[in-house]
Amino acid sequence: MDTKSEIKKVGAVLVLGGGVGGIQAALDLAESGFLVYLVESSPAIGGVMAQLDKTFPTNDCSMCILSPKLVECGRHRNIELITYSDLVDVEGELGRFKVSVRKRARSVNEALCTGCGICQEKCPWKVDSEFDVAMGKRKAIYVPYAQAVPNIPVIDREHCVYFEKGTCRACEKFCTAHAIDFEQEDEIVELEVGSIILAPGFDEFEAQLKPEYGYGRFPNVVTSIQFERMLCASGPFQGHLQRPSDGKEPKSIAFIQCVGSRDLSCGRPYCSSVCCTYAIKEAIIAREHAGDVKPTIFYIDMRTYGKDFDKYLERAKAEYGVRLVRSGVSEVQQDFETENLMIKYESEDGGLFTEEFDLVVLSVGLGPPKQAVELANRLGIELNEYDFARTDPFKPTETSRPGIFVCGAFSGPKDIPETVTQASGAVACAESMLSSARGSLVTERELPPEIDVTGQEPRIGAFICHCGINIGGYVDVPQVVEYAKSLPGVVYAADNLYTCSQDTQEQIKAMIKEHNLNRVVVASCTPRTHEPLFQETIREAGLNRYLFEMANIRDQCSWVHMNEKEAATQKAKDLVSMAVAKAQLFKPLKELTVGVVNKGLIIGGGIAGMTAALELANQGFECFLLERKGELGGNLRKVYHTLEGGDVQGLLENTIQKIKENELIHVFTNVEIEGIDGFVGNFKTTVKSDGQEYTLEHGAIIVASGGEEYKPTEYLYGQHDRALTQLELEQKLAAHSLKFEHLNNVVMIQCVGSRDGERPYCSRICCSQAIKNALKIKEENPEANIYILYRDIRTYGFKEEFYRKARLKGITFIRYDEGHEPQVSVENGRLKVEVLDPILMERLVIDADLLVLSVGVIPSSGREELSKMLKVPLNEDGFFLEAHVKLRPVEFATDGIFLCGLAHSPKPISENISQAQAAAAKAAIVLSKESIVSGGYVAEIDKEKCSGCGLCIQACYFGAISYNEELGVSEVNPVLCKGCGNCAVICPSGACQIQGFRDEQILSQVGAYIT
Ligand SMILES: Cc1cc2nc3c(=O)[nH]c(=O)nc-3n(C[C@H](O)[C@H](O)[C@H](O)COP(=O)(O)OP(=O)(O)OC[C@H]3O[C@@H](n4cnc5c(N)ncnc54)[C@H](O)[C@@H]3O)c2cc1C
Repeated sequence: MDTKSEIKKVGAVLVLGGGVGGIQAALDLAESGFLVYLVESSPAIGGVMAQLDKTFPTNDCSMCILSPKLVECGRHRNIELITYSDLVDVEGELGRFKVSVRKRARSVNEALCTGCGICQEKCPWKVDSEFDVAMGKRKAIYVPYAQAVPNIPVIDREHCVYFEKGTCRACEKFCTAHAIDFEQEDEIVELEVGSIILAPGFDEFEAQLKPEYGYGRFPNVVTSIQFERMLCASGPFQGHLQRPSDGKEPKSIAFIQCVGSRDLSCGRPYCSSVCCTYAIKEAIIAREHAGDVKPTIFYIDMRTYGKDFDKYLERAKAEYGVRLVRSGVSEVQQDFETENLMIKYESEDGGLFTEEFDLVVLSVGLGPPKQAVELANRLGIELNEYDFARTDPFKPTETSRPGIFVCGAFSGPKDIPETVTQASGAVACAESMLSSARGSLVTERELPPEIDVTGQEPRIGAFICHCGINIGGYVDVPQVVEYAKSLPGVVYAADNLYTCSQDTQEQIKAMIKEHNLNRVVVASCTPRTHEPLFQETIREAGLNRYLFEMANIRDQCSWVHMNEKEAATQKAKDLVSMAVAKAQLFKPLKELTVGVVNKGLIIGGGIAGMTAALELANQGFECFLLERKGELGGNLRKVYHTLEGGDVQGLLENTIQKIKENELIHVFTNVEIEGIDGFVGNFKTTVKSDGQEYTLEHGAIIVASGGEEYKPTEYLYGQHDRALTQLELEQKLAAHSLKFEHLNNVVMIQCVGSRDGERPYCSRICCSQAIKNALKIKEENPEANIYILYRDIRTYGFKEEFYRKARLKGITFIRYDEGHEPQVSVENGRLKVEVLDPILMERLVIDADLLVLSVGVIPSSGREELSKMLKVPLNEDGFFLEAHVKLRPVEFATDGIFLCGLAHSPKPISENISQAQAAAAKAAIVLSKESIVSGGYVAEIDKEKCSGCGLCIQACYFGAISYNEELGVSEVNPVLCKGCGNCAVICPSGACQIQGFRDEQILSQVGAYIT
């Protein structure tokens, strides 16, 4: 027996860092049967995402989408939040680590504090707020931000008058809960866990280290994170765009890119990956806040490589007039009279310019957390040359110490969706190792019995949200509250600064009890993100969760009527009265519990599909892996090495071997899918494989159906034998079939079939592919002249290192603009490439011995049929569309179906692997359950009224309605029904109704509006 099997594994995981990465990891683990200790060094969780105003590319309010997750984390029975705490030591090994954590003294007793906020109000001492990046103030006793979880303040002893001078104690005097504890001391907590997930994020580059940009000297030079706070409704200027120096609205803003990125001089040679897109976002929001402001972005390459990011860029230019100047900025100077800023820059063609701006925003790069080295020493893990956690591209979430995983910006700069994906990926890896301990330490959720409201008169509570100034700045909220109080059935109405905050959830529960409320209306933002949170709150208070209604007075009032406060307020009143009218007719709805088939099905046997299958099997779940070709591998079969030098064929072989050896994985090749029926927990898929038919029963589906190389029609491809694609070149390089001594001039053309009218997206991998192959040719023939004709070189993150290496090796990069694409012709049998060099402003003519086209990735054939069978959507470009770009990147809106790999969007192997792991972690949440609950807002057919016409069956997109031959009527399967309402609309006899949206309820809403 080996030592590993002797260790009894612990069913708990420590997650270090409570940013969006740590939060996602904690929630996934807790939902699939593990106890989680979420250790966060600051007083509250949220990380950088809590500081952002909006998020690209959807411009969702960052806090609005984060807040429900914060609350969920804060009250999850299987998550213990350990905030204001630091890791001290880690002993032990995979399966059983002993971790000590120092809980710093808050000077506030967490058990007694009610989060009322009076201490902060009474504290006389103001200091710079870290959360507002020193642009606003906080008190010496504080919570970092309004929606903070936990909502428990901390005394900053360095600035507290009592700790400094022994006087004051105002907080203690006014705290009716007697929670202030000046004597409290740091405490060491010992924890036993099976695995550790690191999510300590990043620290922004310190802009003072680039003194030429004047940060810290000129008040109107700010960093991008300060600008986020400036734009934010909860920020220091309540979202009004104004200059720090004089409060005037700026008319022109310059964004300087790559401050502390792609810059050897300050030790940051890598690309920070997110700054181009966040600068575009900030420029767009600035325009939304002040219509006449002119934003200009000074940049080197525009690296909008993510899904739909190029469309975002085009919108910024076309709809918001964002000006882009490809240049190098050498200096920022200040006019001391006006405090305006002079930007000196060199344009692409070498011209020197000076331009004046009212405000300058420095797009600071993402660096490792300041304590990365110390942290790594304590954890016993390796860091890379830039002090980020070292990972292997083929094992993107594994650190050098077994059992310790990493996600988010700590392993390299990345955006929110990638962070969230990696978090779930790390969870899959931890769960694979701890599967035997799953469920051993968790407690079942205990809810109070439902209060029977039958026969009771409606007693409605209305909670009206300010959402900081998001709503409160445009709608007269107190007026809406007064109005709500006058509505029939309303016995309680109040306003809240943030109705989604944790303390408001407690308040809602308290008010339900105090006023015997039997229905609740919340007027705030969108039910899409917040309805489940409020439903959960009222359920915890003992009400049926469907006795709840939301009025969206943010999107429908404050957003669309920004300049019409009176009309917006009136509309808010109308929406509240409609919600109240509907709530009066609510009845409790029933939910169903259905069993789960604990098996997974994976569609696609490329690296994403194979990884997902292995992750599921390693967690103990049987799965079916479907591949339409005769063998596993997909695109990986044509790739030989990665930019970083990884052995791709080795990976392929190794993965296939592991699949073969795993008894829980059933591989089906030459597969044709004939039908997919069922619903989350209970799918039935019929396939034909190698001539035989099978019916497979499974509880979850992972779509990993991949993508394909675009087959070019341009640049004489297919007409000249020396015109190849990058993949074809790679195959020749691997087979050593190129005669390098004959390669004097090699020309590579980027963006072939990407970023054009037909395919407006970036294929993300082609820049790296070109550099990889160019370096390989240079290795074989250092004399070869290699020209890469590009639009932007998008070697994001640590890939930038290879771009620099390529330039050092003498590879020539020539830019071309859209509309001035290179021209390829044949002269005397030889290929001739012409391109306009924008630096020299001359047409260059190159005789090419080899022309290599960096072609894009296109969605795989057969995706439309698959999308129809699964009833999941595709985006405009033909890739599968996830449920939420930011926070649900590997899930579909349809429960139980998940997504990964090229089927989602083009991306390199490493990112496909973490996405596949993430999809497996999500599927494991379903498969680890014995049963799931469904029902609620679903269709119901009144048998007495139904004529059996079948129109509803045709209208149902989800196959939830069938015909009962015996009774001659239609019947609904509530587990399949999504409550979309198609059937109710089409039913001629009014027999079909959606629960919670019955005709009389909708009509009462209409009636409330008319009267
Ligand atoms: C100006 C700016 C704008 C951006 N805009 C966008 C955008 O619009 N869309 C987008 O997708 N991305 C955007 N990003 C990137 C986004 O912020 C990151 O992708 C995301 O925050 C990374 O999440 P994380 O959890 O890895 O790290 P973080 O958000 O940094 O969270 C890490 C957490 O760990 C805690 N921590 C650190 N060290 C320790 C320790 N030793 N022990 C315990 N806890 C610790 C920290 O206090 C923090 O709470 C932007 C970044 C910047 C700088």
